[in-house]
Amino acid sequence: MEGADEVALLQANFNAMAAELEQAVRQVQAERDTVAKLLQARRELVASVSHELRTPVATLRSYLESTRLHWDGAPPPTLRQDLEVMEHETIHLQALIADLFTLARAEVARLELRLEPTDLAGLARRIVETAAPLAWRGNRVQVVTDTSGALPAALVDASRMQQVVQNLLHNGVRHTPPGGIVAVEVEADDTGLILRVRDTGEGIAAQELPRIWERFYRTERSRDQALSGTGLGLALVKELTEAMGGSVAVESVPGEGSCFSVRVPRAASTDRSADTAPLPERARAS
Ligand code: ADP
Repeated sequence: MEGADEVALLQANFNAMAAELEQAVRQVQAERDTVAKLLQARRELVASVSHELRTPVATLRSYLESTRLHWDGAPPPTLRQDLEVMEHETIHLQALIADLFTLARAEVARLELRLEPTDLAGLARRIVETAAPLAWRGNRVQVVTDTSGALPAALVDASRMQQVVQNLLHNGVRHTPPGGIVAVEVEADDTGLILRVRDTGEGIAAQELPRIWERFYRTERSRDQALSGTGLGLALVKELTEAMGGSVAVESVPGEGSCFSVRVPRAASTDRSADTAPLPERARAS
């Protein structure tokens, strides 16, 4: 009888060991898959960054070379036009480098997020107040916000949230023809706050919608335009929002406009200090 017990015990131990081993193998496999995916993403990023940088640098170089070769005693007659192209390419490069830098920092700083109770409607209002006169002067687009009424505080990193709203607003203004409106709204539900940026602009084709959050993706329409952006603005919006525990969504009707929404978690309801305190005066959570 004793012998049978021992065998049963041994069998049980063996089964437990086998189960543990199987779980460990599964974990290692999952980690290997994650690392493989990260490496692949890194390779793709390096490839696309090189590609994106190559074009403006090549353009600059050829204009510089041509100016030097044609500078024969007097400056070439096309100098002013050529300088304009060079300036445009330099501005594009600068924007690209700034976005890449933010993207890289956002990746590294997933650990460094300063999540704190934030008055999202107040933050949106301040951004709109700054952006509205510029949008009107530059594009004849009206930027408005309807964020009156008390809302619970959001749990976000205020400076990253500011970048998210600015990117969405900037896109809305750029893609809305003169006479149009870009509106920022903030509302709350049981679990979070939702910020929407609506525009009455050109809209985005249904087949392009799923891809607009990808790094360097530009819509066909945007690629055709002379002054296209970097294709990084929405990737930043998505990555920053998700790093803060939120999510992004978009709806769009070509020819009618787009609505980008960002959902972020709300702060614990006991801390209502952010509902009233202005941003710079709030103590930062460490
Ligand atoms: P970019 O810096 O090139 O604008 P984004 O990542 O911000 O890059 O946007 C990706 C693509 O989505 C762009 O090609 C742009 O044309 C399109 N897009 C972004 N926002 C809007 C909008 N509000 N209306 C129409 N198209 C938009």
